[in-house]
Amino acid sequence: MTISGTLRDSYGRPIRDLRVSLTDRCNFRCFYCLPHGEPPIAPKEQMLSYEEIEYVCDIFVELGIEKIRLTGGEPMMRRDIETIISKLAALKSKGLHDLALTTNGYFLPDRAQGLKTAGLDRITISLDSLKRDVFKQMTGVDVLDRVLAGIAAAKNAGLEPIKINAVIVRGHNEDETADFAAFAREHDVCVRFIEFMPLDSGHDWSRDDVVSGREIRASISERFPLVPLDVHRGSGTSSRYRFADGAPGEIGIIAPVTEPFCGACSRIRLTADGQIRTCLFSTVEHSLRDVVRTGATRNEILEFIESVAMKKEPRHYINDPGFVAPSRSMSFIGG
Ligand code: SAM
Repeated sequence: MTISGTLRDSYGRPIRDLRVSLTDRCNFRCFYCLPHGEPPIAPKEQMLSYEEIEYVCDIFVELGIEKIRLTGGEPMMRRDIETIISKLAALKSKGLHDLALTTNGYFLPDRAQGLKTAGLDRITISLDSLKRDVFKQMTGVDVLDRVLAGIAAAKNAGLEPIKINAVIVRGHNEDETADFAAFAREHDVCVRFIEFMPLDSGHDWSRDDVVSGREIRASISERFPLVPLDVHRGSGTSSRYRFADGAPGEIGIIAPVTEPFCGACSRIRLTADGQIRTCLFSTVEHSLRDVVRTGATRNEILEFIESVAMKKEPRHYINDPGFVAPSRSMSFIGG
């Protein structure tokens, strides 16, 4: 039930953070996400239109959502995302605090400024390697220089604070963690290291491939001693560190496998085809699209969202023996 405009789940956790996937499509083929490429593209009519996204986001904001992050697939592959960004930015007058985007950075060299002008606050860019050959091997595309140019363009456009996300996978890029820390210092950005999660469409995830947050912290600290940032973590996913020598930049460690943070989770997700997911690892989805398209009133939609929020799982079950990975990969769920 809503208590002073705050959506809550049945465990009393406030839900303030909505991730909206704009498309299932992606121009990268990261081996830990979409190794075998996209299944046939879903018919356009199953996707939420921009008008529908704007409408339901308006309702979510009425329910207390403060942050909206646009994601995908690769969100910048959807046509004219500047249009939906400017519509959602208008929700700031109604209680939205923060409008962000997660992207692989490919389109940023030409479009970062346009995103800022449309009203985007900040950006997270995925970057799994600083080495051309490893980048290509992990993402399936040979475009490291272009992504680096995209990061520079985002900085020039003022889409700050810029976060860089690197998924660390054993045998691929775990030797680069300190190099990433050097990158954070040089460019004054926050580099966040993410543990490999069982969300790959190939279902090839193995616990042996997970490089733990603890191991990542230790390997960075050998070269650059870290100091935990004295910030209230709240519902944030990462533990945050600064450099002990006072250098610019920041390190974040996101360790959902070895250090789960479900107790503070404030997230809910909307897939590109209009399904609400209450957890990254949910095995069920709730069709907001069907509710909206069958002519429900605004109040009925609001009540539907409230009832779905009550079904949010207490935690993910990655570490339980009977764990079943969701059938849809991160690219469909909206990372
Ligand atoms: N295309 C955009 C991008 O590359 O950032 C947004 C969508 S992508 C699915 C969002 C994030 O999910 C990326 O940082 C990606 O590395 C991460 N991701 C995908 N599959 C993952 C997995 N199995 N484990 C951990 N992170 C994953």
